[in-house]
Amino acid sequence: MANGLPTTRDMIAQLIATPSVSCVSPDHDMSNRAVIDLLAEWSEGLGFSTEVQAVNEVKYNLIARAGSGSDGLVLSGHTDTVPCDPALWFGDPFEAREADDRIYGLGSCDMKSFLALALTASSKVDLDRLNNPLTLVATADEESTMSGARLIADNGRKLGAYCVIGEPTSLSPIRQHKGVLTMSVEFVGQSGHASDPSLGNNALDGMHQFMTALYQYRDRIQQRFNDPAFKIPTPTMNLGHIHGGDNSNRICGACTLLIDIRYLPGMSFEQLHADIDQLGADIAGTRGLKVKTHVFGEGLPPMDTAEASEIAQYLTHITGKKTSSVAFGTEAPYYNMMQTETIVIGPGSIDQAHQPDEFLPLAQIDPTINMLESLIERFCLT
Ligand SMILES: [Zn+2]
Repeated sequence: MANGLPTTRDMIAQLIATPSVSCVSPDHDMSNRAVIDLLAEWSEGLGFSTEVQAVNEVKYNLIARAGSGSDGLVLSGHTDTVPCDPALWFGDPFEAREADDRIYGLGSCDMKSFLALALTASSKVDLDRLNNPLTLVATADEESTMSGARLIADNGRKLGAYCVIGEPTSLSPIRQHKGVLTMSVEFVGQSGHASDPSLGNNALDGMHQFMTALYQYRDRIQQRFNDPAFKIPTPTMNLGHIHGGDNSNRICGACTLLIDIRYLPGMSFEQLHADIDQLGADIAGTRGLKVKTHVFGEGLPPMDTAEASEIAQYLTHITGKKTSSVAFGTEAPYYNMMQTETIVIGPGSIDQAHQPDEFLPLAQIDPTINMLESLIERFCLT
């Protein structure tokens, strides 16, 4: 109970007991304010000065800082969790339960525990001795819109030279992930009686031609871009949903396709978007259809921190593991936009994230605290 800080296990339990689901569906979406308030109280108790940023009416970021300047280290995590289905859990998802050398609970691995471990590690350091600032950041809505991290990037105030985001990587350092572009393409024609094609203009026929063009485009970008650092070394394009027309005896008046593209560092979101717009416009033009494209959200940029970055090198040194890539997205690109060199490394495995009976292995708690203490020592005290 140094500095009035609860024990690590107690903090983890309190964070899990404080629901903060974020979801693009308003039925499940919740405020994260209560989690922010807990973290603010604990960090103030340690001597951090805190700033609560309103992302919108119900969502908040916390920035807790010790020391001043734009160098130093940021330890960052998201406060929200995905929704859960309590019926599929062995116990109550909002009650931290210790069994099998694990802590079970929603957010135990993704990623409320990391925030508690960052506080514990900070409590072991004399914050008055910092040469460079130490900043703890707790964000909103990582699991839904990334609006919390995006607000921090939009504000453009650099919070540190280096950042660690404690997403579950089983304590392996990660420097790369792909970017995501999700979009819809709709062709609108004219419905009419199926017996006479001249009575309408079939949107499904246009979509069929568009999909053929998309597959050819996918082949081209997969031949052009290839990075063996990724398990799937090429960009991917998944056509995930299609809807068009209503009845077999009516010419299809409108047809919509949903597309998910995962693109490599070095590829341009704007170029992909523009290329697909152009493919749609060309087909719509030759067939007399209207075309509408829509990008969902603002997409997620790829993460690409240099292997030569000092924080990448240091984490490789202390973990004995080379930096690598992951298949999931994180808030790291938003820090990299501010020239804050960012590595993702944290306890727990992504295999347990977003699953019933999510858990954190107890054996990873002390190694995480030790790693964070070393990072603070290296980037804030030396
Ligand atoms: Zn996460």
